[in-house]
Amino acid sequence: MCGIVGYIGYKDVKDILLTGLQTLEYRGYDSAGVALFTDKDIVVYKDKGRIEHLRQIVGSEASCTGIGHTRWATHGVPNHVNSHPHQSLDGRFVLVHNGVIENDDELKHKYFVDYKFKSETDTELVVELLSYYVRKYKAVDVALRHLMNRLHGSYALAILDKEDPDVIYIVKNKSPLLIGKGDGFNMVGSDVMAMLKETNEFYELDDLEYAKITKEKIEIYEITGALIERESFSSKLDPNDMEKGTYAHFMLKEIEEQPFVLRRIIDEYKKDEKLYMDEEIINAVRQSDRLYIIAAGTSYHAGLIGKELFEKIAKIPVEVHISSEFVYNTPLMSQKPLFIFISQSGETADSRASLVKIKKMGYQSLAITNVEGSTLYRETNYQLLLHAGPEIAVASTKAYSAQIAVLSILAYLVGDINDFDLRHELSLVANVIETLCDENELFEEIAKKTFTKRNCFYIGRCIDFYVAQEAALKLKEISYIQTEGFASGELKHGTIALIEDDTPVIAVISQENTNLNTRSNIKEVKARGANTVIISLKSLSAEKDQIVIDDVHPLLTPLVTIIPTQLLAYYAALHRDLDIDKPRNLAKSVTVE
Ligand code: GLU
Repeated sequence: MCGIVGYIGYKDVKDILLTGLQTLEYRGYDSAGVALFTDKDIVVYKDKGRIEHLRQIVGSEASCTGIGHTRWATHGVPNHVNSHPHQSLDGRFVLVHNGVIENDDELKHKYFVDYKFKSETDTELVVELLSYYVRKYKAVDVALRHLMNRLHGSYALAILDKEDPDVIYIVKNKSPLLIGKGDGFNMVGSDVMAMLKETNEFYELDDLEYAKITKEKIEIYEITGALIERESFSSKLDPNDMEKGTYAHFMLKEIEEQPFVLRRIIDEYKKDEKLYMDEEIINAVRQSDRLYIIAAGTSYHAGLIGKELFEKIAKIPVEVHISSEFVYNTPLMSQKPLFIFISQSGETADSRASLVKIKKMGYQSLAITNVEGSTLYRETNYQLLLHAGPEIAVASTKAYSAQIAVLSILAYLVGDINDFDLRHELSLVANVIETLCDENELFEEIAKKTFTKRNCFYIGRCIDFYVAQEAALKLKEISYIQTEGFASGELKHGTIALIEDDTPVIAVISQENTNLNTRSNIKEVKARGANTVIISLKSLSAEKDQIVIDDVHPLLTPLVTIIPTQLLAYYAALHRDLDIDKPRNLAKSVTVE
């Protein structure tokens, strides 16, 4: 969610900050700002709205040190005053913040009873508290340690001190923050992407650590003040993966990349021409008596498919939990559970909170993520990468199919299955997706005719119901049409009351045992005026089904039935002329709880 970038060195900083922020745009934001150290002062430019707008209002003063921020509002509406950077009343400190301070009210009452805060943010409290501690203890590093001891919640902070133009301070707890090391310069950023144009050598900061960064030196400290030695790492990301080339939108590019991603996964997880994953991971799954999949949003929907795969292929019982619920409502655990965290970014704060909780209980965990070195990747016992390449559109598409593919390989290897060849089946899936992606015009046409109302339903049974939930999420998040993914047999128990003339109802039919039941449910809604669309597999299709897909292995159908729904969502949003890659109110990596 939101982002931070900072630079201290010899080049003009404005463009580095604005370009860096632009690479973080995909994470979702509502305001943006920069603070520039000039020879006389620190100047701040900020406002609500896009980075393009910020680019226009930023002044022309020379500066080689600065910090930038994209804000995803948690405390106070998006407006000029609430945008970051925030400056202390005495003018000495300017800082940007990602995250949420949970005890801001308590601290405001304790330390600043008579102080009138300019903004509604929790961040202004942080900058004032820092300045208070510096006045009290006369040293910035001591003040930072007191600050970290006092603040509860998540924070990545980048700080400029007017009395020391040669330093950027950074502080981290829970929200991601990295340091980029350069030659004659250094950087900070909430994501390697923000720094990759300038450098490919990075240091991670762990929770409750702070750092002092000059253009020549990087010093990382524990909260106790002890200096830390840290190994640097480099990223395999190619900056070109972050361009959309000839595509109008990242989302369309990412939908069409899905066959390549599947082929890459097959390739990454093979040895001696057979599917292969680290034995330690396979054994950890085999030794558990129950898997607990913890995830949010699209990853949660992939987790539901994972349950099918593990129970049907590997014969291991699975529970799937929404991470934000799991943290506060932890179920009774089995004797030997293994926790699987699924997250595209590896930074999902709710999942991270669940991980912290189960680690305290002494349980083992596996992360399935797209981002090597991300928080979940670092903090779990085992890791599997999605190899999907950077996913920039906020609405996840290729990460979802990569999650299902990786889960299917894991279940297959754990189950030690020989009655079908998953590698072959997955490559057939890749071919079918390719064919579907060539049918853009059909999906565009159906989207135009179907989404004429404010609401919509996707229905299906069993595995198709799980796909219906993801299809509904896709449509609502980018087209703003209120959509529900429903178990088709459940409609008549209440929700069918919402069906009226022309309500779109789209059915997913990929399983023989539920085909006829779902078709009956479609007739029920049609009889009440619904505008229906059927997505079916060829072997189960009926004459008037609008979208017919070539057959694939029955357990892999979600990988193909989801494709038309992604494209329908895309065209629905396109016809509404909406910001497809950056839908309103949403963020790509949800780093606040
Ligand atoms: N909580 C802060 C605010 O609302 C920071 C939000 C963010 O992470 O962008 O301003």
